[in-house]
Amino acid sequence: MNITLSNGKTIPVEMHRARIVQKITLPPVARRLQAIEEGGYNTFLLRNRDVFLDMLTDSGTNAMSDNQLAAMMVADDAYAGSESFYKLAAAVKDVLGFDYTMPVHQGRAAEHLLAKVFVKPGDVVPMNYHFTTTKAHFELAGATVLEIYGPETLNTQSTELFKGNIDLRRFADAIKKYGADKIPFVRMEATTNLVGGQPFSLRNLHQVKELAAQHHIPLVFDGSLISENAYFIKQREEGYADKSISEIIREMASLADIYYCSGRKSTSVRGGMIATNSKDYYDRLRVWLVVYEGFPTYGGMSIKEVDAMAVGLREMTDFSVAGSAPEFIQYFVGRLLENGVPVVTPAGGLACHVDAARFLAHLPQSQYQAGALAAAIYIASGVRSMERGTISMDRDAQGNEVYADLELARLALPRRVFTLSQIEYAVDRLTWLYQHRHLVKGLRFVEEPPVLRFFFGRLEALDNWGAELAKAFESDFGPHC
Ligand SMILES: *Cc1c(COP(=O)(O)O)cnc(C)c1O
Repeated sequence: MNITLSNGKTIPVEMHRARIVQKITLPPVARRLQAIEEGGYNTFLLRNRDVFLDMLTDSGTNAMSDNQLAAMMVADDAYAGSESFYKLAAAVKDVLGFDYTMPVHQGRAAEHLLAKVFVKPGDVVPMNYHFTTTKAHFELAGATVLEIYGPETLNTQSTELFKGNIDLRRFADAIKKYGADKIPFVRMEATTNLVGGQPFSLRNLHQVKELAAQHHIPLVFDGSLISENAYFIKQREEGYADKSISEIIREMASLADIYYCSGRKSTSVRGGMIATNSKDYYDRLRVWLVVYEGFPTYGGMSIKEVDAMAVGLREMTDFSVAGSAPEFIQYFVGRLLENGVPVVTPAGGLACHVDAARFLAHLPQSQYQAGALAAAIYIASGVRSMERGTISMDRDAQGNEVYADLELARLALPRRVFTLSQIEYAVDRLTWLYQHRHLVKGLRFVEEPPVLRFFFGRLEALDNWGAELAKAFESDFGPHC
């Protein structure tokens, strides 16, 4: 919860006690240099033991609550008909309002099933913005992803509060251009991940739904980060300040024909699901659910996680839970702005996004600014961030580089995991790095997988800049920091 201090400053205060903790270590800079070289300058390939603050992702890394852990202890392990499933289905009904719930092993499995059932070669899938796994699944099914965001979405220095909105005129144009029969559904992603965790407004969601319904186009809602989006609606959208997170979530979900999510985000577990009120959709999806995931009462998830997800769904409607990551991110972004470090504004959900295109403006995009920045942040701090830029795009069919709209180094803040002093540490080292940014040069692939190359690709530092950066760091802070 944000608390205003007597000096007028606002700080986020943790609304929980840390009863179980995990020890971490800060490897010295020489080891960090060695580790990033062993990992091919790809932060995905670092071993966690070499990481001080793991801000790679919020996926599956939120701190679970005592009630979630307790629920796991009483899970009903059964292949079919588990009570745990019925608890999940009841939570989905209460929190989101859907009659049919299908657990899947994680969010991308839901995308796989949706692609399998609804997407045909030649189709066009409009959405506010793609997510990596979404794009991969829909394109593998032969469709084209069409991003129809508004004019401010890609502006990293914006004051627009709802950069996750769909541009209605572009949506109408797409329907006219391709025809509704080529559009299997329109997809709205809550707290739009790849453009900086930016929310959409409920007003926009209502308008998208209305236009889609006029053309009999179903609305597919990616609710992986729905509670953060609901928090932003409460904070930012006119008419919602007095509504509860629960009411806002309910209103959002009521507009979805099909809802799916990665349970690894807002619900703080490892799993995912699809939910709907349409018996027809349910029947069509269920056929493939058993083929690819598992029996519909566990869907490839551990039953323990099914129980924890039921609790997590209810807990994400708590204001202090929904706001815990956004408030820390707002603080993090605000402190970096004070120090002149280029970050994405407004602060979003899930992560603090550093704008690598401005941070490393001396590098061309072909040298992977975001990847170079993520590696440099690790060398300078032991903080692991994620590249969200051109490395996260795959080459086109002709082998040409596809440049990302944005070059971002994403510092995720999983819920309830980090403390304010750890954020201050990251702010300090990022500021130091910004002052020494001229030492950071580009990267070049030495091993490049064809699909989702950001996971396993190995790169090298041009002109061995990693060693230069480590040397400058050591001369300022000594060998043990
Ligand atoms: C994480 C995420 C996914 C994919 O979910 P996984 O559980 O990682 O497979 C899909 N959409 C959004 C918005 C996400 O954040």
